[in-house]
Amino acid sequence: MIYNFLMQKKEIVNALNSEVILKDGNFKNDFFEIADNVRYNNLGDGVHLRGLIEFTNYCYRNCYYCGIRAENSNTERYRLSLDEILSYAKKGISLGLKTVVLQGGEDLYFNLDKMLEVISEIKKLGVILTLSVGEKSYKEYKAYRQAGADRFLLRIETSDENLFKQIHPNSDFKNRINCLYNLKELGFEVGTGVMVGLPNQSVESLANDILFFKSIEADMIGLGPFIPTPNTPFENEKFIGIELPLKVLAISRILNPKANMPATTAFESIHKNGRIIALKCGANVVMPNLLDCEINKKYKIYKDKSTTPIEAIKEEIISIGRVIL
Ligand code: SAH
Repeated sequence: MIYNFLMQKKEIVNALNSEVILKDGNFKNDFFEIADNVRYNNLGDGVHLRGLIEFTNYCYRNCYYCGIRAENSNTERYRLSLDEILSYAKKGISLGLKTVVLQGGEDLYFNLDKMLEVISEIKKLGVILTLSVGEKSYKEYKAYRQAGADRFLLRIETSDENLFKQIHPNSDFKNRINCLYNLKELGFEVGTGVMVGLPNQSVESLANDILFFKSIEADMIGLGPFIPTPNTPFENEKFIGIELPLKVLAISRILNPKANMPATTAFESIHKNGRIIALKCGANVVMPNLLDCEINKKYKIYKDKSTTPIEAIKEEIISIGRVIL
């Protein structure tokens, strides 16, 4: 059997059910090796660093899995000023980063005018700007784009409409899909992704997620394990472990040879070598956090979020023979 970007749903399901063996501290699975080769053949050994600025943890949504959901009164809220955002962006640039990613909860304080000010001031610094600020209207996305924003990350979270409804009390699946198509139409480079191991999520559903990334021609795919988090309705849900999320990552790489795929912080947070392991299973991007550690910790979307400093991340990448871009 030749596994490549033409894999069909049945083959994907079989691959997701394949065994992962732990040998000498390494996770082994045929698809991990295939994904690593696909990554190397299409993108080489370069690893892109994108500097993450989590600029607000206020959010009006109530996603059942998320630690910064509106109803979590145990979260200490913060939002950065324009000056603070710009100084973190400058820090990223001084560290050699070419892209900054502005991510946040859906905070109504950052209305269109405020966002346009933030976007245009960051763009004056001469960096590539990725936004990850949730669902907005076509008009707002268009204005963001005109102000200079280059890329947008909006995970679909799950491509299964029923499951989506079960985990999002005040969000609409069709609207989220629509947002992704609007972003594409407006010329953003678009990233999407899912959480792996959600309550009631089947391997069939994950196979559909992988096919969804392909059908939407995602430029970027960010995925990681679902981490049950205190003070959320899902705090007592089961934790899936690292194996299945790694398989979803590897198979997503095989089907999307050229997509940019981060070794997400969620992998790093559940396993001490999570970032390196993900880089060996198809990932080619890392998103170091630019915030000071105390603020970084407050953006607690899930528990035990890793806060590895950028210098240590660079060392890790080099230690496995990869090249920092
Ligand atoms: N408000 C923005 C950014 C959300 S935070 C948006 O809607 O796009 C970024 C991502 O963190 C989410 O898309 C979600 O996939 C992930 N996340 C949130 N809670 C999580 C949890 N408990 N475990 C793992 N990932 C989680």
